[in-house]
Amino acid sequence: MDMRKLGLIGGMSWASTAIYYEKINRIVGQRLGGRHSAPIVIDSLDFEPMAAAMGEGDWDFLTETLRASANRLVDAGAESLVICSNTMHKLHARLSEEIAVPILHIGDVTADAMQEAGVHKAALLGTRFTMSEPFMRDRLRSHGIELILPDPERMAEIDRIIFEELVKGEARVESKRTMKTFLTNMEKTGIEAAVLGCTELVMIVNPNSNVVPIFDTTTIHAEAAAEWVLADAA
Ligand code: GLU
Repeated sequence: MDMRKLGLIGGMSWASTAIYYEKINRIVGQRLGGRHSAPIVIDSLDFEPMAAAMGEGDWDFLTETLRASANRLVDAGAESLVICSNTMHKLHARLSEEIAVPILHIGDVTADAMQEAGVHKAALLGTRFTMSEPFMRDRLRSHGIELILPDPERMAEIDRIIFEELVKGEARVESKRTMKTFLTNMEKTGIEAAVLGCTELVMIVNPNSNVVPIFDTTTIHAEAAAEWVLADAA
């Protein structure tokens, strides 16, 4: 069975890396049957110093951390990499130039899925970096998708939920309710869908029962990664 070996830059947070790991293996197992699972190397980083660096705007530290992680994965035999965080895609272009193997972009595969579904206008939810900076927004817009952002107060609350709860593996009922209310209000602005542009948000937003269709970047990225693993398999 000729599967390709995938590298996951994980720990951003561990809670979402676990989701990637399970999803990729479930797809490979279903596709190949038997007891097959995906050849994966995971480099799981400590998120505390990374979150602190984000708060301080120390992107040099974050670039160095991700570069070292990517190199460890390549040394371990990974033939392609996945950055298991939307926010860290701020560094995608730089890392892609420096690392010898391809890095599958979360925005490209998400935009492909949205285009396939005929969605042109969607809410983008994620960390304050993903919502307010251009690295993810421009990537989605370059595929013809118009984005609606939450107001500053809601942005701050979503960012707080991500950094204070979700990255620690906590999915609280109040936060599930908050997200439902935000999405219900945003639906009135004419959005056709919402993008969960943070890899932990699926812990508190159910993609299968919502006021609008949900494009979960974790699921879409994991599915694309599984397809890449299987591309040469019989
Ligand atoms: N996993 C998150 C994301 O997809 C947030 C944590 C981080 O900043 O890496 O953006």
